[in-house]
Amino acid sequence: MNNIASKLSNEEYEANFAELHPPFTSAAATVEANRCLYCFDSPCMKACPTHIDISTFIKKITTGNMKGSAKTILSSNWIALTCAKACPVNVLCEGACVYNAKGEEPIQIGRLQRYVMDWYVEKGMPQLFTPAPKNGKSVGIIGAGPSGLACAAELALMGYEVVIYEAKHIAGGLDTHGIAPYKMKQQDSLNEVKMVEKLGVTIKTGVRVGETISVEDLTKKHDAIFLGVGLKTPTRLGIPGEELNGVYDALTFIEKVTTRKWNSVDVGKRVAVIGAGNTAIDAATEAKRLGAEKVCMLYRRSEKEMPAYKFEFELAKKDGIEFQFLTAPKRILGNGKVEAVECLKMELGEKDSEGRRKPKPIPGSEFQIPVDMLIKSAGQNIEETFLSGIPGLKTAGGVVVVNSETLQTTNVKFFAGGDCINGGKEVVNAAADGKKAAGNIDRWLFVK
Ligand code: SF4
Repeated sequence: MNNIASKLSNEEYEANFAELHPPFTSAAATVEANRCLYCFDSPCMKACPTHIDISTFIKKITTGNMKGSAKTILSSNWIALTCAKACPVNVLCEGACVYNAKGEEPIQIGRLQRYVMDWYVEKGMPQLFTPAPKNGKSVGIIGAGPSGLACAAELALMGYEVVIYEAKHIAGGLDTHGIAPYKMKQQDSLNEVKMVEKLGVTIKTGVRVGETISVEDLTKKHDAIFLGVGLKTPTRLGIPGEELNGVYDALTFIEKVTTRKWNSVDVGKRVAVIGAGNTAIDAATEAKRLGAEKVCMLYRRSEKEMPAYKFEFELAKKDGIEFQFLTAPKRILGNGKVEAVECLKMELGEKDSEGRRKPKPIPGSEFQIPVDMLIKSAGQNIEETFLSGIPGLKTAGGVVVVNSETLQTTNVKFFAGGDCINGGKEVVNAAADGKKAAGNIDRWLFVK
């Protein structure tokens, strides 16, 4: 790519990607933990999709019972370090903390959880749980992302033989490959993968179900199967020029950045990002932190409708990202490589079935923005081709159909959870699904 932004020094890269929320010191963690009121009805715990017993793990910090605190956290959530660093805590646990109602700062639950989990990792992740004796049953899990890992850990503790099949060469899914490095390091996710392996779970990486191993073989080999396959196929914009060099999908770009080999990631001097969700914001801020001179986000609705969290929007603005609202790409221009994006101004019309006003183009409002790189973040879809190879498995509306109580699919041997059933939520929702599915797989295998 021509017009590549100048490379930065290692010190500049490290400063640009420094953690947004640095760790607590021991003294600061104790002071913060002592602020907790240990509310009897724990609204924070209810707001956490994995229902971590927050007041109990915080109480244990105050008494120096770090092992006990880690055990309290992990008994609810096997990707607790990722969640501590990457969860939108201000809309989940911290958003529910009673201190908000008093007009005071909520307890920094995320940072306290991170303090405990960092301690646990530094101590070499000692075994805190003893798996039950083997029960003679085996479960196959497709996908080593947050839902697959959570499901695997729970089943291993119940005495199942568990094998995870992961298409990528490194396990961890979105936690390993898709989280901005100023939120967490890839190594944090890899530590969680190790934690699950320590429970006796086998993880086979580089295995594509349907190619390396057939669905039929897998079905014969295991008593039940959990699908934690996430969303793999980026949504196309459906406009001319998408195939030009310099046009990227947001998650592919973010994946390159998570390896922390900053120098190896080329970024254009002028970058446009299509979309205004949290992933789009991650891609935009990463491009800026890698040295892009100008990054502009294009969104077809107004600021009011943008799907990104407010704190992500504020972070992007602080990073100098520009926003063009009510703007949609019409075509991408270039001769072999992207040179500009032609846009249309939009206006909001009638409300759609979800209550959001539909954007409609203003005729004759075309204008061009010169760019050297274009990042598309218009969402992702399930892998229909792979899923259609599972007999009887139904998909609808872009997700795998499950019984919402049991997470069992329309093929009774298959359960599913995470992004492939919810269309893309937080990693903590995926962890909660994995755990829920494990309990239901156990009930189905022993009660059916
Ligand atoms: Fe502590 Fe806040 Fe949870 Fe109450 S709501 S238990 S103060 S973290």
